[in-house]
Amino acid sequence: MALIITNDCINCNACFIECPVEAVYKPSEQKLSEQEKKEFYMSEEHYFIDLNSCDECTVFNVPRCIAICPMDSIKTMEQIKKIGKENVI
Ligand code: SF4
Ligand code: SF4
Repeated sequence: MALIITNDCINCNACFIECPVEAVYKPSEQKLSEQEKKEFYMSEEHYFIDLNSCDECTVFNVPRCIAICPMDSIKTMEQIKKIGKENVI
């Protein structure tokens, strides 16, 4: 399981600093493939979370990145499905 950063992200860097397992990445400076964007939620525009590294902060009550994000731009996969991927990514 992993959380997803949506396009409300303003690249403030807070979640990058806060993540205990270094699962948050800055926007890619290299061109990404459609697969990387659509399947792995990587981004050239905003921060993104490595799906394989994020454990949703299971040892905390609330995921650290969600607690600190000023834009409420970090969502679960279930939330993304409800909102509609095309509306938030
Ligand atoms: S949920 Fe926790 S482990 Fe996953 S990206 Fe956010 S801070 Fe990092
Ligand atoms: S804390 Fe929120 S707004 Fe800031 S970089 Fe992370 S996802 Fe983007």
